[in-house]
Amino acid sequence: MRIIVVGAGLLGLTTAYFLRRHGAEVEVIERQAGPGLETSYANGGMLHASQANPWNEPGVLWQALRMLGREDAALLIRPRALPRMLGWSWNFLRNSSLPRYLANVEKNARLADYSLTVLAEHLAPLALPFERADHGTLKIYRTAAELDTATRFAERCRAFDVRYQVMSAVEVAALEPALAPVADELSGGIHFPDDVSGDAQRFCRALAEHCAGLGVTFHYECQAQEVMMHAGAVRGVMVDGEMHRADAVVLAAASYTPALAASAGLKVPVQPVKGYSLTLPMADWRVKPRVPVIDEHYHAAVCPLGQQLRVAGTAEFAGFDTTLTPSRIRNLYDLLARIYPSESGAIDKRACVEWTGLRPMSPDGVGIMGRTAVRGLYLNSGHGHLGWTMAPGAGKLVADEIMTNRTELASADYALARFGA
Ligand SMILES: Cc1cc2nc3c(=O)[nH]c(=O)nc-3n(C[C@H](O)[C@H](O)[C@H](O)COP(=O)(O)OP(=O)(O)OC[C@H]3O[C@@H](n4cnc5c(N)ncnc54)[C@H](O)[C@@H]3O)c2cc1C
Repeated sequence: MRIIVVGAGLLGLTTAYFLRRHGAEVEVIERQAGPGLETSYANGGMLHASQANPWNEPGVLWQALRMLGREDAALLIRPRALPRMLGWSWNFLRNSSLPRYLANVEKNARLADYSLTVLAEHLAPLALPFERADHGTLKIYRTAAELDTATRFAERCRAFDVRYQVMSAVEVAALEPALAPVADELSGGIHFPDDVSGDAQRFCRALAEHCAGLGVTFHYECQAQEVMMHAGAVRGVMVDGEMHRADAVVLAAASYTPALAASAGLKVPVQPVKGYSLTLPMADWRVKPRVPVIDEHYHAAVCPLGQQLRVAGTAEFAGFDTTLTPSRIRNLYDLLARIYPSESGAIDKRACVEWTGLRPMSPDGVGIMGRTAVRGLYLNSGHGHLGWTMAPGAGKLVADEIMTNRTELASADYALARFGA
């Protein structure tokens, strides 16, 4: 069976790998010069089943309204992005009712848990170099109310095998000494010991190299323009004016998936949500952070990746614009200084790499993957803020569905058909 995967980010590469393991002849089409150069380039680095909650939690509308127009807000909506988002936004808000939100949490938690298992059982044996660490993640809270709400949410997620330990501020500082200077500002924390961290782009590079060794063909600097059809079924993909034939096509083109899917008559509700990150050397830090930390109060994530520290956060609806907005970058420097105030003198901005990427977000906060109404056309997109977490499991699930028609999780929960398409 000959299969084309469009996109060499986290989702396209894990799909290609598992397809090849099933014996498929796989071709990957990627417009960049190498793997993992768009959204998978400098993300928060965390594979966290603990963060399975979609962003549209109950009350999100009021939160968004409170943040409207504030450049330093965790969630920023640019007016120019609004016209193309109306249908999607309505669906996003509809999914913030408590029953829908909880059902979506469950889908994400199950996929995340499955994904960590796939990582351990199928990908860890490849020994890919990507600065993997197993210190879990530590969420910290600055008010008793925040800690209380988070503890109740963690308790719910225990049903999906997400283990956790609630900690006092003193215990937080003992687990992560780099947080000792702010311990008296904290109400406490929750440690999720089974979460994993690692550099997504290094993972992409290493997995692409491994796939090439297994016989996967990569076409870099090639633009997929259109899905080609015949008699209601996929025939291949038009790439830079040249027809590439295939029995099946997987679109893993992140926020650009809808445009390609539209050429096959499908409406895929995925919108880009811009995020930012900083990557800085830790050489001059006196106490180097060891454990990935999410500061829920300031909506920032900090993740050690080998000798470097990654700071990621903020969400901005700004269409496909990927310019680095100075005020948003400044926010990240400020957040970093609030979390590690005693190291702020060691931060050399000239040595920091500033980055922005577009999270491919579905309106219910759950990835859109697997079979579609078009014969031979499959999706692996829309994993939003959880694409690194979900990539191992989502890649295997889609490959299993195509090659064996049997999946270890109910694939219908993640299919495009749930949006009536
Ligand atoms: C600031 C930030 C922090 C994040 N932190 C985390 C985190 O800590 N944990 C987590 O789980 N997730 C995190 N994420 C989310 C995660 O990074 C994404 O969900 C994931 O990278 C998406 O992977 P992808 O393969 O779908 O997209 P991409 O990596 O963007 O891959 C899609 C590829 O398709 C290619 N492409 C698109 N259109 C075409 C075309 N027409 N022809 C050819 N090629 C095409 C692109 O060039 C791209 O390489 C974060 C995201 C951001 C922005």
